[in-house]
Amino acid sequence: MRHPHPHTLASLRMRLPRSPSTHAKRRSTTLSHQKPIPNPIEAPQHPMAVYVHWPWCTQICTFCNFNKYLKPSAQESDSLATKMKDAILSELAMTLTGADVADYLRYTPKRPLRRPSRDADESPTPVPLPTSTPLTIKSVYFGGGTPSLAPAHIVAGVLDLLSRMCRIATDVEVTVEGNPGTFPRAHLATLRAAGVNRISLGAQTFHDGTLAMLNRNHTVSDTLHTAEDVWSVFDMVEHPRPPSASSPRAPVLSVDMMTNLPRPQGGDVPSPTLEAELAAAAALRPHHMSVYELTLERGTKLWEEVERGTVDVDRGEDVRIRTWEAVAKHLGSHGYTRYEVSSYAKLPSGASLTSSSPYECGHNNWTWRGGDYIGVGPGAHGRVTVPTERDGAVRFRTYRTLDPAGWLRDVGTSGHGTRLVTPLSRATSVHELIVLGLRTSRGVSSDDVVAFVPTAGAHILADHLDLAAVRRCVEGGLLVVDEKDGGMTIRCTEKGLAVGDGLVGEIVK
Ligand code: SF4
Repeated sequence: MRHPHPHTLASLRMRLPRSPSTHAKRRSTTLSHQKPIPNPIEAPQHPMAVYVHWPWCTQICTFCNFNKYLKPSAQESDSLATKMKDAILSELAMTLTGADVADYLRYTPKRPLRRPSRDADESPTPVPLPTSTPLTIKSVYFGGGTPSLAPAHIVAGVLDLLSRMCRIATDVEVTVEGNPGTFPRAHLATLRAAGVNRISLGAQTFHDGTLAMLNRNHTVSDTLHTAEDVWSVFDMVEHPRPPSASSPRAPVLSVDMMTNLPRPQGGDVPSPTLEAELAAAAALRPHHMSVYELTLERGTKLWEEVERGTVDVDRGEDVRIRTWEAVAKHLGSHGYTRYEVSSYAKLPSGASLTSSSPYECGHNNWTWRGGDYIGVGPGAHGRVTVPTERDGAVRFRTYRTLDPAGWLRDVGTSGHGTRLVTPLSRATSVHELIVLGLRTSRGVSSDDVVAFVPTAGAHILADHLDLAAVRRCVEGGLLVVDEKDGGMTIRCTEKGLAVGDGLVGEIVK
């Protein structure tokens, strides 16, 4: 793949904020007094993941607190899709050059710049993502909302822009999330042709009464038909070859399920057991499953219903843990292994349940292990490492304007909808790596932390842990610690994973 001059973007139907040459002039003017900036990213290609947020849904589920909005009427949909496409491509193009972060921090902050740490004030001006270090795109994830409602040409447009401005990894993983019934065969075929190789289907439950009660926009029959269509349009096989850096990724299906759901009273079809729900999901032959426990979120319709006493949700800790353990057991009997608190992947035939699966979600693994990712679209977050003179590199978290109308307005004004850029202190970065690592079966190691905190030594992980609390958790069968060469790896046992965030709160300083 090439890394073209940004002028090649002129043919795209999008509004670039200012000509690339203006950016270059501004940058060189500002930095002319400074020493050359060492590029801390030693690899010739800087790996990057991309998340694109499509905020529209045809119905609002009663439990949902995501950044989602009701899709406008059919008449308005076409013009909205055009506006969304232009804005997504504009924001992505700016972000790939780091220009949105620079724009926000240095030139035209659209809101008062918040500086949460003293470090940030003292740091030399950050330099945008180095265009001299071409990005290698490892994964692209279209999430939402309901991204299966986005016209396929938007997905194709994003992938086309990425291939013009970056190197695309040969085994890039490209996921589109969506709900059953919103992936017509022709749409699936266009997505496949555009380069999508992973479909994530929000089944949630195999009980029509529960789907209706939650105001889902599909039926069980939709789920079965959509899964069949995904299998046939993508020519899926049960055990595709494992991903390898030298060949394109084989297409896979992921299915989302929910547990601890409220159930309707009465009705013709009794609510299925957890075992039956998971067996129905496994019958779709997904290569990957995410099984989320229902979280009752303040402000949702379900929250109000529970408060009013019209709907009952079991919130007991015991039930929660028992269900969580039962999910691993039932999915284990169908050949899936848990590799993260809510994530399961199909094992190759004959592999033991303790083996790792080649069908884990590459995008999530990358972000959980601290990798950089660009977030595009209303409310999307990102995390990018930028070179600085003093520290070698500073990591930033980026936030886009939340509501689609405001985001479209901001992109129209300045080419991007970045509303906030916050530097991540070393302590925050390490804390985040520990929290995310301990949700996974592989845990977190000193090497994982050193990779993202370049000036740190192998002791950095231990420095951020309350070692007495760690020892207590090891004795209590919640944690396993391996020490080697001055570094350590720490991971939760199954019992520790069930305790979850409480355990992390105990052991992180
Ligand atoms: S489809 Fe997904 S994003 Fe949309 S309302 Fe339902 S749960 Fe939320």
